[in-house]
Amino acid sequence: MKRKPTATRKPHPPAQWHLLEPWQTVAWLRVDPQTGLSQQEAEQRLAAQGPNLLQEQRLRSPLAMLLGQFADFMIVVLLLAGLVSGLVGELADTVTIMVIVVLNAVIGFIQEYRAERAIAALKSMAAPTARVLRDGRHHDLPAHELVPGDLVLLEAGNVVPADIRLLDTAQLRVEEAILTGESQPVGKSTEAIRNPDAALGDRRNMAFKGTIVTYGRGMGSVIATGMETELGKIAQLLREEKESRTPLQNRLAQLGKRLALLVLAICAIIFVVGLLRGEQPMLMFLTAVSLAVAAIPEALPAVATVSLALGARKMIRQHVLIRRLPAVETLGSVTYICSDKTGTLTQNRMQAEAFFVDGRTDPDLPELLLRAMALNNDVRLDKDGRPLGDPTETALYEAAAAAGFRGIELAAACPRIGEIPFDAERKLMTTLHREGDKLVAYTKGAPENLLPQCLTAWSAEGPRPLPIDDLGKIAERMASEGLRVLALAFREWPEPPADWYSETVETGLCFLGFVGLMDPPRPEAAEAVALCKTAGIKPVMITGDHPATARTIARRLGIAGDGDSVLTGDELARLSLAEFEKQVEEIRVYARVAPEQKIKIVRALQDKGEFVAMTGDGVNDAPALKCANIGVAMGKIGTDVAREASHMILLDDNFASIVAAVREGRRIFDNIRKFIKYTMTSNSAEIWTLFLAPFLMLPIPLLPIHILWINLVTDGLPGLALAAEPQERGIMHRPPRPPRESIFAHGMWQHILWIGLLMGGISLLSQAWAYHTGSAHWQSMVFTVLTLSQMGHVLAIRSERESFFAQAFFSNKPLLGAVLLTFLLQMAVLYIPSLQPIFKTEALEPHELAVCLVLSSVVFWAVELEKWMRRRGWIYKDHREAGQ
Ligand code: ATP
Repeated sequence: MKRKPTATRKPHPPAQWHLLEPWQTVAWLRVDPQTGLSQQEAEQRLAAQGPNLLQEQRLRSPLAMLLGQFADFMIVVLLLAGLVSGLVGELADTVTIMVIVVLNAVIGFIQEYRAERAIAALKSMAAPTARVLRDGRHHDLPAHELVPGDLVLLEAGNVVPADIRLLDTAQLRVEEAILTGESQPVGKSTEAIRNPDAALGDRRNMAFKGTIVTYGRGMGSVIATGMETELGKIAQLLREEKESRTPLQNRLAQLGKRLALLVLAICAIIFVVGLLRGEQPMLMFLTAVSLAVAAIPEALPAVATVSLALGARKMIRQHVLIRRLPAVETLGSVTYICSDKTGTLTQNRMQAEAFFVDGRTDPDLPELLLRAMALNNDVRLDKDGRPLGDPTETALYEAAAAAGFRGIELAAACPRIGEIPFDAERKLMTTLHREGDKLVAYTKGAPENLLPQCLTAWSAEGPRPLPIDDLGKIAERMASEGLRVLALAFREWPEPPADWYSETVETGLCFLGFVGLMDPPRPEAAEAVALCKTAGIKPVMITGDHPATARTIARRLGIAGDGDSVLTGDELARLSLAEFEKQVEEIRVYARVAPEQKIKIVRALQDKGEFVAMTGDGVNDAPALKCANIGVAMGKIGTDVAREASHMILLDDNFASIVAAVREGRRIFDNIRKFIKYTMTSNSAEIWTLFLAPFLMLPIPLLPIHILWINLVTDGLPGLALAAEPQERGIMHRPPRPPRESIFAHGMWQHILWIGLLMGGISLLSQAWAYHTGSAHWQSMVFTVLTLSQMGHVLAIRSERESFFAQAFFSNKPLLGAVLLTFLLQMAVLYIPSLQPIFKTEALEPHELAVCLVLSSVVFWAVELEKWMRRRGWIYKDHREAGQ
């Protein structure tokens, strides 16, 4: 046996903690098992030990990110071409090209950096926490602040935050597959293990970082953190989950490649035709390369990422924390939201409203029932003495306290000497207490599960035979009033039971009574349900509660109508998947469902082609959350396991927040579409202009520098400002977007082609007019018309359907600012003498500027006309319009 260290000796950690007795462990770690470390000591240890983190893959440095902006093939060609042309011609050209390219890279870098920061912030917000005893108080701390010696509480659903020597366990079971490969949970205990070479899986008195508590409770002292944990030792082997690209990013990347080939082909034609017409080869080459740089939409996937990441950051205001970026994009496709009832649709503020004891519905509550309510729970008190814990239990606790039975005080006099924790499968919970020289076990749980285990019923005159049928009906009636009904019972034991199995302990009971708990629906939930329906989303309630309770609450919320039936977990279990699929789309309420069954519901809906969001909070919900298209975990009551399996976390556990997130997801997707529409129409216009000019016997309309300027200024700023566009009216009045629908659906291709052609056409028209009337300013005119018509375009496409004049003018100030700035810059480039030689421009005469303005506005009116025709249903008719 090891020697007990003195306080002065620096403890040298034993390599085999499992050999130590609990008291030796705390002595080694110099921690008081009653109060934990002091905050001060913990801080010192944190400074010495470092944070409890595994070494993550290194983030990209800002410099690498900036250099990455130049890693585009066409940009490199452009820089080289610029350099060569500078050497043989004017060096000023080269410098200007360089400046424009660098500015472009800086804008790209800022965007990307912001996105990366947003994603990092989201990640740190989603980081796990641990419940720790320090200075005699419980704290919820970020898990990375744990230090050796900290006393950590574990409960079902936790991911173990560090390596822990267990000091106290109650039916604790831990799944250690991540370390041992064994997927069956292992029971844990506290006794020292004699075998020094015990394999990790046999170290039953230890809990290791990264493993999952599936059942029971425990407490222990941290013995290793971060890279010193068993998980840390193999961390190099664990591949960090690669952030997958969203479907949209993938599609845009693919599209980008195909368009690149097309654009290159066109540029080649422009180059060759130019040569044939006797233009300077170097100028033609630079023109073609500039056009390629401007028109190849290589930035689209990056812009999509930025929009999604910044959108995700904004969603925090809607109380939604995005864990996986693709969720932002796919939220708009959700067709079913399957939600838990308790806490998500209801307030989770339960209150005991009805009792049934000894044949009476307004009974004097007998002492035994009050003791059961006070003792049979895991309620803790916060520093102000308010009960904390599961709302079902705090409701019972408070009702007992109101009658003078304070659980915490009672528990001191009647210590708990054994327990079988609650689980959603049994729906029962038992605690055994020593009350003087007696041993009394209290059991509470769902009436259907508890009543069959009762032999007698308590009455003031002594135990009576149990009228089980009548009691069943009474429970049913209470449930149909929307109450969660709990049955309570007790049993005296001569000595503690030998085995703690439900079959042996939770049987032969004496029924005490029913307590009906009211959990009022959230006021905003009914409205959110109604909104779902207009948006083509079907809300479904899944609950562990009784069918009668579920039906009543579902009706109050509008989830189920009078005719709708409720499917219970038992019925669901009896149906084969194929049979279930026949009715799954009709069912709106599932009751007495075990969490494991949720996955069957997700699968059946997905087989039917639905796109499912599913909420969950417990360990057993995790598979369904993973399998759902959008797994939604609860931020307040959820377990670590559920959170890690989820795509997004509801910070306020509120159903209405899911609906708000769907709305936000739709807005973000709309805006990405608008950005693509804008950029690609501009690109198409630039291509049309340069491509068609020679066929109209016109000289090359634009110089390379003009093309690059248009690409940087007009494409860049207003395009990005489109992300700030508020949601479209009626965004929740259209059906969900089919997940596989092309981003170019609803007339976007056509728009890009014909508005692009129109823009190119009027630019060439201005050129032709000026050229043939002998004006020397024709090139500046094309340049100006092309720039300004893009401003008209961006204003007109703010809404996909609505007239510009029906929208709130100032609702997107960044866009107005960008348009104004672009206009002023264009004027500066035209009229400031020192800029004219750089940009190869001339000041336009007033009448020429007027012609430019009039011609440029044509695009705006054309898009307004397009939208008007769409509103009338003449063009781009599709399901979205049909739903209006
Ligand atoms: P929802 O799925 O709507 O969120 P839930 O998940 O809270 O509901 P469970 O917690 O699984 O549902 O509870 C199912 C049933 O188990 C309850 O109706 C109740 O009868 C019983 N029950 C719940 N909590 C306890 C508890 N702490 N002790 C004993 N029985 C409980």
